[in-house]
Amino acid sequence: MTLDLAAFAAEKGVKYFMISFTDLFGGQRAKLVPAQAIAEMQEEGAGFAGFATWLDLTPAHPDLFAIPDASSVIQLPWKKDVAWVAADCVMEDKPVEQAPRVILKKLIAEAAEAGLRVKTGVEPEFFLISPDGSEISDSFDTAEKPCYDQQAVMRRYDVIAEICDYMLEMGWKPYQNDHEDANGQFEMNWEYDDALRTADKHSFFKFMVKSVAEKHGLRATFMPKPFKGLTGNGCHAHISVWDMDGKVNAFADDALPFGLSEQGRTFLGGIMKHASALAAVTNPTVNSYKRINAPRTLSGATWAPNTVTWTGNNRTHMVRVPGPGRFELRLPDGAVNPYLLQSVIIAAGLSGLRSKADPGRHYDIDMYREGHTVTDAPKLPLNLLDALREFESDSGLQVALGTEFSKAYVKLKTDEWNSYCSQFSAWEHQTTLDV
Ligand code: ADP
Ligand code: MG
Ligand code: MG
Ligand code: MG
Ligand code: MG
Repeated sequence: MTLDLAAFAAEKGVKYFMISFTDLFGGQRAKLVPAQAIAEMQEEGAGFAGFATWLDLTPAHPDLFAIPDASSVIQLPWKKDVAWVAADCVMEDKPVEQAPRVILKKLIAEAAEAGLRVKTGVEPEFFLISPDGSEISDSFDTAEKPCYDQQAVMRRYDVIAEICDYMLEMGWKPYQNDHEDANGQFEMNWEYDDALRTADKHSFFKFMVKSVAEKHGLRATFMPKPFKGLTGNGCHAHISVWDMDGKVNAFADDALPFGLSEQGRTFLGGIMKHASALAAVTNPTVNSYKRINAPRTLSGATWAPNTVTWTGNNRTHMVRVPGPGRFELRLPDGAVNPYLLQSVIIAAGLSGLRSKADPGRHYDIDMYREGHTVTDAPKLPLNLLDALREFESDSGLQVALGTEFSKAYVKLKTDEWNSYCSQFSAWEHQTTLDV
């Protein structure tokens, strides 16, 4: 039965609902709707001018309505007057095909038709920086290998513990928090869930981390590579596929190599096959490619892949199989759209299942030292344009994600690339002045 949002407001003392949707660039768009008006909005949706967001709509399009999915509602733990609710975009009573949450629901339904339920966990790393964005916020945080730094994580205890307390309160089952591999960088982990729930939580997590950081006079960034020379913000995804009851892990088979069943292997095969193209989604910004193709960082390793390879429990490859019954995609970065991340994983994975795709040989080498010896695996795209071209040449992936989406995405992202290219850089001036 659908939760009645007006009754929810009365019971919890909620004064406003934040009806929120995520556009193609991952931007979260919302209207604050007073509880008195929520009954009608729950039916009709909140109205938006689509052109004002990144959905590739024109000013002439009819209104876009964001219909709240009541099952996603969360009372903001740091502002109990307000409840956030994820919404699905419709226009003239039809789903907006290029809207990320619409795409994800469609792909989840496709997996369900095959009797499969995808469960995922994400690890969105972030930096706590100064409000003007120019530097990390803790001037004592200067260690060459700052990962797991006990002193540094305690200097940010007030921020980290507040966020973790909220995750406990929301029932997300958080289980660890740490200082990550770059100065100023942190990671917080909570338990995996159904792909749609993980996408909603991922989206909400970014909103929460930014809000709490601001409350403490800081700023949080998920930018893929905010500081040259320091490890970037990854957003690894862990993936397993279950039966519809969520009881039997269809990826697990202890008798097979890496504890990965035939289904797990071919799903992974799909990820490997579409990797270069799906990078356009998992690594969606110009800056993303400064993380995956980076030279060695101050800490000694980038922890990001640059080649399409997979392996067992070894963090130098694009895919790691950390244990039986799941694998980790280490490619995505902090800029990834939470809904498109899950969508592209399911789209590529289902394609792999259908075509019985072979993931190819696994490499069990240290890719950072011996990567040059691998000659039969594609290099990941070197920049956003390269990735967009790969995406455009992968019609299977485009169809799986929806042609409306693919068209809109390539158009908007190509505009972004062109805007970047029109910048006149200091590097260009310096290297070309004396020709
Ligand atoms: P690491 O840093 O070693 O990659 P983390 O502990 O930071 O791992 O994150 C692991 C993520 O994987 C968590 O979100 C966790 O809940 C999730 N996870 C664990 N088991 C599974 C599984 N079977 N299917 C999907 N996700 C899983
Ligand atoms: Mg107006
Ligand atoms: Mg982790
Ligand atoms: Mg990490
Ligand atoms: Mg990881």
